Amino acid sequence: MAEGVIDLKGKRAIVTGASRGIGRATALMLARAGADVGFAYHTRDEDAETVVAEIQQAGRQAWSVGSDLGVRQGADQLFAACDDNFGWVDIFVANAGIWPPEHVALVDMTDETWTEMMRANLDSVFYTVRGAARRMADGGRIVIVSSTAGQRGEAGHSHYAATKGAVIAFVKSLAVELASRDITVNAVAPGWIDTEMAAPALAEEGMRDQVVAEIPLGRIGSADDVAGPIVFLCSKLARHITGEVLNVNGGSVLCG
Ligand code: NAP
Repeated sequence: MAEGVIDLKGKRAIVTGASRGIGRATALMLARAGADVGFAYHTRDEDAETVVAEIQQAGRQAWSVGSDLGVRQGADQLFAACDDNFGWVDIFVANAGIWPPEHVALVDMTDETWTEMMRANLDSVFYTVRGAARRMADGGRIVIVSSTAGQRGEAGHSHYAATKGAVIAFVKSLAVELASRDITVNAVAPGWIDTEMAAPALAEEGMRDQVVAEIPLGRIGSADDVAGPIVFLCSKLARHITGEVLNVNGGSVLCG
């Protein structure tokens, strides 16, 4: 899909959360477009090994690191591997994240539930994007995966929405800060996407039909539907786009 018009040969890309879902689809598409790809995941070693093999089958260099990116030491492990295997970074996609399906009302939210969300979805973005920016070549690309929730909120998931809104403010700040190095920084904001993350919610009685009915294009997106726009933002085609939020949601209107 990304081959041809988008040529990333010689580029060194890192994707977080690429053992499955949107991250995996992005890593594979970057590899098919010509990039070597290193990636991070948390605990799913076997899934990660499969993705490494798939990238290698595309003829590209691949490596992976399993660690908790919500703590600095976990991010340090990723960048130690980056220094050993790549030396520098051209493309960085901060995609790893969590969305526990349970609704939690603010009045019932424990300190631990809030803190765990901040660690996994926001601290991880800070640690990894900082590490990538320190190693990024001029003309590099940073893409952070946000969500519709980060723009219109999400009742029952206010902690998740807060992290996804925060990364948009982070993107807009860094877009200006890193512009002098010709590094672009953008967010991709998916709506409902068919991955393991969304599966338990979509499996609830009547939920899939209800979700589809609210999407003008009449379908739930695939991981590839998000990977394509991410790879576009990582390409030369997008060199004059920075500080933007690219919504990938089938036309769902973004208002409260
Ligand atoms: P997914 O299928 O649940 O995959 C999550 C990925 O993140 C996995 O590779 C997982 O590693 C990794 N990960 C989670 N916590 C981590 C941690 N603390 N340290 C390192 N890696 C960690 O999710 P997805 O649906 O592809 O979602 C990807 C991104 O899109 C997330 O930021 C999510 O918030 C966002 N998003 C998704 C949807 C949707 O409907 N799916 C909608 C809007 C936004 P393991 O495999 O090892 O656990």
